[in-house]
Amino acid sequence: MSGIDGLPPLREVIAEHGLRAKKALGQNFLLDLNLTARIARIPGDLSGMDVIEVGPGPGGLTRGLLAEGARKVLAIEKDSRCLPALAQISEAYPNRLEVIEGDALEIDPLAHLTPPIAICANLPYNVGTELLIRWLTPKDWPPFWSSLTLMFQKEVAQRITAAPGDKAYGRLAVLAQWRAEAHIALTLPPEAFSPPPKVHSAVVHLTALPEPRFPADAKILERVVAAGFNQRRKMLRAALKGLTPDIEDRLIAAGIKPTERAEQVPLEAFCALARQFEKA
Ligand code: SAM
Repeated sequence: MSGIDGLPPLREVIAEHGLRAKKALGQNFLLDLNLTARIARIPGDLSGMDVIEVGPGPGGLTRGLLAEGARKVLAIEKDSRCLPALAQISEAYPNRLEVIEGDALEIDPLAHLTPPIAICANLPYNVGTELLIRWLTPKDWPPFWSSLTLMFQKEVAQRITAAPGDKAYGRLAVLAQWRAEAHIALTLPPEAFSPPPKVHSAVVHLTALPEPRFPADAKILERVVAAGFNQRRKMLRAALKGLTPDIEDRLIAAGIKPTERAEQVPLEAFCALARQFEKA
């Protein structure tokens, strides 16, 4: 039995339910319940919050979230082999864990939840970035979530939190930091997982800002930033030429040198440029 909840240790759970890790599902499990509790504490006090967890697997992080006091956890898992293990957790925490079997890319969990809502997950690597982009680009802002606490490959975590001039600075950093505060809360070596992945991982914590840091139309900003970073080695006057013939004038009006490259341009200047396009 494990100290935090009287449930068996995760190695036993995995052996009992035959949860041999499948690479195609991005299965790298966390087996240390002290570590999962540590991750569950990153979003802060969960007692008044519903939490969405994508990919609970054998339930290490799920148990951490529940033990740390989450009001309710809604867990979406694609691998039906994990359901009996998750049902045992549900019994240990009556009425606090709901499990939906399915693909997180196709399920809208909102009908099952009451705000405030946090999202906390050790994401499957193959759908992690796509889910993050969806959560960062909802139709309306503020979004349905107050915070995202997400495990990524370290290299992806660096792309989310990078500053202008960093090698990792790009579309993901601008998208994330425009409307959220983002930082790396924890870095983990491969040995923290079973089986160990090839690379280091990191937990990124993002808090939704009540409004964007600088005014801009979301769609226009996304288009300008995507075009700028698509050809990141080119000067902006060349990289953005396809958007409008008078790009040099617009860059200058936004306070950006036409000879600069996207990787040097701060968020505020990208927003100013998006406003120039909106005016036109
Ligand atoms: N949370 C567990 C942990 O920390 O040990 C497992 C994390 S493992 C990195 C990713 C989990 O996501 C696996 O359980 C996998 O089956 C599940 N998964 C993969 N693709 C999924 C999808 N599209 N929707 C929901 N779950 C998915």
